[in-house]
Amino acid sequence: MSKKDYYEVLGVSKSAGIDEIKANYRKLAMKYHPDRNPDDNEAEDNFKLASEAYEVLSDQDKRSRYDRYGHDGLRMGQDYHGFSNFDDIFSAFGDIFSGSGIFDEFFGGSRGRRQSSRRSMGERGSDLKIQLPMTLEEIATGVEKNLKVKRWMPCETCSGSGAKKGSAGYNTCNTCGGSGQLRQVQRSVFGQIVNIVSCSTCNGTGKIIKEPCEVCHGDGRTQGEDTIKVTIPAGVEGGNYLPVRDKGNAGRHGGETGDLIVIITEKEHPYFIRQNNDVIYHLTISFPSAVLGDEVEVPTLFGPEKIKIAAGTQPGTVIRLKEKGIPNLNSHGKGNQLVYVNVYVPTNLGTKDKAIVKELAGSEGINPKKKHQSKDKDFFEKVKDVFF
Ligand code: ZN
Repeated sequence: MSKKDYYEVLGVSKSAGIDEIKANYRKLAMKYHPDRNPDDNEAEDNFKLASEAYEVLSDQDKRSRYDRYGHDGLRMGQDYHGFSNFDDIFSAFGDIFSGSGIFDEFFGGSRGRRQSSRRSMGERGSDLKIQLPMTLEEIATGVEKNLKVKRWMPCETCSGSGAKKGSAGYNTCNTCGGSGQLRQVQRSVFGQIVNIVSCSTCNGTGKIIKEPCEVCHGDGRTQGEDTIKVTIPAGVEGGNYLPVRDKGNAGRHGGETGDLIVIITEKEHPYFIRQNNDVIYHLTISFPSAVLGDEVEVPTLFGPEKIKIAAGTQPGTVIRLKEKGIPNLNSHGKGNQLVYVNVYVPTNLGTKDKAIVKELAGSEGINPKKKHQSKDKDFFEKVKDVFF
């Protein structure tokens, strides 16, 4: 789904201006909006895809990267969401359009939409977002974590109803006549829009509690700490997120529970720099090791490993440890570990060491020959970014 051309998705040309992009996105959002297409998965997918396309094309920086590199130029979770639920879209774009007044009517009703489509009692609880810092080792293998989360949970005493046990129960709400919903008709450039909004008198329940629960005082929920087990697959990166259904805040008065959104962050590693799915390691060896060859131990994400240094290894040599990098998130295969070899030049030698180096300097084979001084095209290719 995310591989479709974003311009095609929004039906605009590559040179389209922001106004046209905005207008076409609005049109599509109207067409595929969940209020108009209840329980229609295809409409839902189209709505999400249009939102993803809009998210990228409405941003100068993301758009130019997309133009140059296509989907590969974008980072999932940072440049686009791959929206997993509607609340994401509403929270991402609700305020972009707040000036226009059009999306307010529309997107402001996201909570109402959930209520009306699922007929749950009270108002839906909010989504919770938490950050999960991960080490590169954890990312390389994937990990199960038990997250301690403070959240609103349904009151156990009244099972979320908010009514005292054994109490007389409820009266029907006079404002909405027991339906829990009020209809509001609004005019817009698209014609009349009927908004179904939650009744504020009874919080959408249609009922007024006669005697509130002593524990939650009629709220139907209490604050507590919950331990939530999440499984993070190998290969994630900072900015990716994992929605955990129904582990956000419980809604008031027995309302639906929001989602927990676990946002991955990467901890800095003491040795490695991550580049896509490769990890780069900087190894410094001695001059004799470079000349004579050696076997040295290097850290990898999967434990220490011995590697061979060939005799005559040059500074700047890159040794590739195959598949010692990070697994691809959505496909088979793994990145590599790239060991960048540096040769140590001591700066503070004692008298004895100095004498040895001086003796070495006098030896004929140790000094570069004329052919080593000649112009090396590869070298200029490598350094031109540095100098020019
Ligand atoms: Zn209660």
